[in-house]
Amino acid sequence: MCGVVGIYGHPEAANLAYLGLYALQHRGQESAGIVSTDGHRLRWVREMGHVNDIFTAPRLKDLPGHAAIGHVRYSTAGDSSQKNAQPIAVDTAGGPVAVGHNGNLVNADELRERLEAEGAIFSSTSDTEVIVHLIARSRQPTLPDRIADALKQVRGAYSLVFLSDDMLIAVRDPMGFRPLVLGKSKDTWVVSSESCAFELLDAKVERDVEPGEMVVIDRSGLRTLRPFADLERHRCVFEWVYFARPDSTIDGRSVYRARERMGRRLSIEHSVPADVVIPVPDSGVAAAIGYARESGIPYDQGLMRSHYMGRTFIEPSQQIRHFGVKLKLSPVREVLEGKRVVVVDDSIVRGTTSRKIVDMIRSAGAKEVHMRISSPPTVGPCRYGIDTPTREELIASSRTPEEIRNFVGADTLGYLSLAGLYESVNGAGSEATRNGFCDACFSNVYPIRVQAPARLRQLRLITA
Ligand code: SF4
Repeated sequence: MCGVVGIYGHPEAANLAYLGLYALQHRGQESAGIVSTDGHRLRWVREMGHVNDIFTAPRLKDLPGHAAIGHVRYSTAGDSSQKNAQPIAVDTAGGPVAVGHNGNLVNADELRERLEAEGAIFSSTSDTEVIVHLIARSRQPTLPDRIADALKQVRGAYSLVFLSDDMLIAVRDPMGFRPLVLGKSKDTWVVSSESCAFELLDAKVERDVEPGEMVVIDRSGLRTLRPFADLERHRCVFEWVYFARPDSTIDGRSVYRARERMGRRLSIEHSVPADVVIPVPDSGVAAAIGYARESGIPYDQGLMRSHYMGRTFIEPSQQIRHFGVKLKLSPVREVLEGKRVVVVDDSIVRGTTSRKIVDMIRSAGAKEVHMRISSPPTVGPCRYGIDTPTREELIASSRTPEEIRNFVGADTLGYLSLAGLYESVNGAGSEATRNGFCDACFSNVYPIRVQAPARLRQLRLITA
């Protein structure tokens, strides 16, 4: 998972990109980068680490210009290393171009194999470099045309920002897997993975970049192109459950309110007599508030989270993950002792974190622990840009809810239904179906099949 930001029309564009990335840090903490242009040349800083550590004042000073793009990365394709940090910036025959990508291309291996056979040399293992090579090879006359030409050859999820010496381009794939929002602050255009970045930038949301839309911003203003064939939309429903920040809006609707509705619905679907409702902070907070409001059970903070650690879900190794729970969460005995506790979380991935949490609550003196999950069981991995574990590692892919309850050690366990999730996302009384969404990790219904090319399949068999 990654976050992208683009700024056009501000004398300190890189500074604004920095602020935008700061607000998008939850979408990726491995590396960050900014590329700026002063109208003549691109300059960039890309490094491993957090936004705040990388972009010191002197480094931002080295990024002058009126336009910039930025990227925060957590690897979903390609390993976690400096060479895969983005935005990627290259010189092509048509001029310099930089790109930041949120998503995952499902035919990147196949395209890479073809490009390498034709003599292309790759400097990273990221799928985004495939797009760069396709743009460099396009014979189309303008950059928007070359980008469209390249993107017509890729399949999968992409929300992209491009920067040339004097043009900012934002593109969202025709199925719209990953979000992308357009905003404005006075004369400055802003694009961002999430609207939560706009608050820091003092920008207002104009609208979402539509699936299949290309927004081109240059000195003559903003224009919109629709270079791709229309496809059925498959916006990621998991953004609503977990990934997006609750203060963001997606498709014009509040993520916070949707999560609160998930909690309300969860309390209707899985009610239980209890003394207190607590969230697993931070992503379970809005749903726990919803659960408490609907059930009438008091809400409290039974677990405290240290804000100086990354998210459990996107840490690299199982070992660190176990250790991380202890470091990040600690129980508030005052709230839990002698109580029947409902604990609300957004999902159960491997089950090991949930087991530690249940254990932690019991150790603090809780009489009963009832676990409530504001999404359906996660049964499959994501192929479209979110770094979930493999199917084998996902506890719900092979165990029933009762077996999972037993594994995590809760007295009861309840998952939100898929219909309940859609009703929560779309608003009360709305259509409770997957129309327009991807829910493959909950349903195993994948909108695009992933097929590695023959040579890579063989290689994987040999190295497995
Ligand atoms: Fe989102 Fe899950 Fe679909 Fe991936 S598989 S795009 S996480 S809904």
